[in-house]
Amino acid sequence: SMPSYKWRRVLLKVSGEALAGDGLQNIDPKVTMAIAREVAAVTRLGIEVAIVVGGGNIFRGSSWAGSSGLDRSSADYIGMLATVMNAIFLQATMESIGIPTRVQTAFRMSEVAEPYIRRRAVRHLEKGRVVIFAAGTGNPFFTTDTAAALRCAEINAEVLLKATNVDGVYDDDPRRNPKAHLLETLTYHEVTSKDLSVMDMTAITLCQENNIPVVVFNLTKPDNISKAIKGERVGTLIGG
Ligand code: UDP
Repeated sequence: SMPSYKWRRVLLKVSGEALAGDGLQNIDPKVTMAIAREVAAVTRLGIEVAIVVGGGNIFRGSSWAGSSGLDRSSADYIGMLATVMNAIFLQATMESIGIPTRVQTAFRMSEVAEPYIRRRAVRHLEKGRVVIFAAGTGNPFFTTDTAAALRCAEINAEVLLKATNVDGVYDDDPRRNPKAHLLETLTYHEVTSKDLSVMDMTAITLCQENNIPVVVFNLTKPDNISKAIKGERVGTLIGG
């Protein structure tokens, strides 16, 4: 009989920073290949995987808007386009190892990718395809973490898996304080009230309102992505 896993359908959020790895380029092909391999392994088990990609490795609207005089909306559109570049890179990498993949963009770029159509995305997932959501929410002033929470709710994914470069959420900055502790579980309220920098307020609130558990984990550790997707204990679990 088929082994059963904790989640049937997951939303994996991959930040731009994670895609950059420690290479000198914006995207480290070793990182995208590692993601592709681990996602391939879990889709073979029958778990449905949707991905939201960030763009901070290429362009972050908020940091440009302040310093350059660029208006925030224009800066954010450039940021959203950056996520499309990451999405296409990740798609090409996944397809190079035989994983059927579709990219859906939040605003139309029909020569490059499908437009976001919720029912179509769900259908792709049911057929075992990986769906990569690009261009965030399609709106300036939002983040791809918020896009991840939104798409997660829309497609009825059971968990938001936030892949980062750190092991999870700490009670202090582990880079500055060597005594900082990794917190294994947190409530939404603890995240917002203690101002723990997990996600922006819009994203975490959307998760809370829709009872979406969030797992924050380190994607640079081998097998962590597949462990997180299979529902094994990694990083920090936020819920309740
Ligand atoms: N962005 C946006 N609306 C969205 C999602 C993203 O305007 O719904 C822009 C914003 O400028 C952001 C950039 O795209 O800085 C890249 O996304 P994000 O910073 O969330 O990427 P990550 O931190 O995950 O790499």
